[in-house]
Amino acid sequence: MNLQHPNLLRQQAYLNGQWVSAKSQQTLAVTNPATGETLAHVPNLSAEEAQQAVHEAHQAQHHWAKLSAQTRCDHLLNWYNLILKHKDDLAQILSAEQGKPLKESQSEIEYGANYIRFYAEQAKRIYGETLPAANSDQRILVIKQPIGVAAAITPWNFPNAMIARKVAPALAAGCSFIVRPASQTPLSALALAYLSEQAQFPKGLFNVLTGESQPLGEVLTQHPLIRKFSFTGSTSVGQKLYAQASKNITKVSLELGGNAPFIVFADADLDSAIEGAIAAKYRNSGQTCVCANRFYVHSSIYDAFIERLTKASEKLRLGNAFTGSPDLGPLIDSKAVEHANALLKDALTKGASLTTGGKIDPELGGTYFQATVLKDANHNMDLAHEELFAPIAAIYPFDEEEEVIRYANDTPYGLSAYFYSRDIGRITRVYEQLQYGIVGVNTGLISNPEAPFGGVKQSGIGREGSHHGIEDYLELKYILLAGINA
Ligand code: NAP
Repeated sequence: MNLQHPNLLRQQAYLNGQWVSAKSQQTLAVTNPATGETLAHVPNLSAEEAQQAVHEAHQAQHHWAKLSAQTRCDHLLNWYNLILKHKDDLAQILSAEQGKPLKESQSEIEYGANYIRFYAEQAKRIYGETLPAANSDQRILVIKQPIGVAAAITPWNFPNAMIARKVAPALAAGCSFIVRPASQTPLSALALAYLSEQAQFPKGLFNVLTGESQPLGEVLTQHPLIRKFSFTGSTSVGQKLYAQASKNITKVSLELGGNAPFIVFADADLDSAIEGAIAAKYRNSGQTCVCANRFYVHSSIYDAFIERLTKASEKLRLGNAFTGSPDLGPLIDSKAVEHANALLKDALTKGASLTTGGKIDPELGGTYFQATVLKDANHNMDLAHEELFAPIAAIYPFDEEEEVIRYANDTPYGLSAYFYSRDIGRITRVYEQLQYGIVGVNTGLISNPEAPFGGVKQSGIGREGSHHGIEDYLELKYILLAGINA
């Protein structure tokens, strides 16, 4: 890294406006997945230290909620401007701890910052209602108030944006916020905290806890002063945290795993479908919750699609984020490689075959998995039912519209789906029948702050982004005004 502002690289947690080490002095190492080198050490905080942070965030919330919407907006905009000013440094920190190419890190920083700008404005649009009362002597008012202290646990695949998507609506609504980032990628969260300090946020408003997931997760899901818990990560961990949060009936949002179908109908524009396939499959080396997991291609264009996708995949360059300008970085760790290899092996023994890739890059080694295309996949294979989280495009043939909709919905997940067609009747029939929270039609890129992002079925609860996203951080209060004519 070559940071213009080395202060952005923090090795302490940020609680109640202070940079703190663990009382135990224990730390956790943060490593670069591209090289294995140790980048930093962050505090391994205890459950007691987390509890103290919750009390302080509770006090901060009390004051923050009393400020005007315009003041909250101004604070968020100051933060947004600082994030953009330091975009290049933030991208370097992100690539160093996560491995993704610098150009992807830069777009993640901008994407995350856009949520902060969007919700800065949204702070001023938290509208109440008056409702007609049955009795002419009464009036019904409905107001929206901040829920209280909000807490979050976030994953390693988008170390900046998964936090920005949660903290921005929380602060705009008048909540204070505590995040416990993934242990593999806490540095981007701490850099955001540093910039919140520079933006002169009140102390205790935005807090970053570092340490082991289980003890801190128990505090964040079960402390009675935390009224909202938001999680992004795997479905299995989400299920556990959902159960924990039920203890105090804490309001929960869950952004969980996916198993996205990508359907290419016979009437699709093939050039555009290939471009969309590359974007939807290979971003972050296939390690995104909305990555295309299953490509269903109509049998009349099956061979042509495979040939073109294979060629396009072979052009993608793997490499270290800091040398050259690669298209794909390494997978996050060796466990991720083992998972991808196991799914590949299962598919190959059940009749699939490779048209390109399938291995760790022979020159780069480590966890650099090649862009891979696998043809003749079917639903008896494990990869039809599990998230690949690797740069493997598995292709399944189909013949009929009804058949492919059935295949696409044959999963407990329901986050994102994609399809390509130019027939408006088919487009309408298909988007209406896909059991997913997000559907991309003739595009492979679907995330933006203006839209409500989130899944159905085991992909989660709640939405992030758009005017809907702030509702998770608000409570409705109904007031019955009586005795008006007395
Ligand atoms: P993960 O294993 O579920 O971890 C996510 C976070 O949960 C990490 O911070 C992890 O901490 C923490 N965690 C793990 N066990 C915990 C426990 N017992 N108590 C409290 N916290 C715990 O998921 P991942 O592998 O990091 O992320 C990939 C998953 O996230 C994929 O399934 C992907 O689809 C999903 N995802 C979903 C979205 C969405 O918007 N729907 C977006 C991005 C990713 P450690 O780091 O210490 O393990």
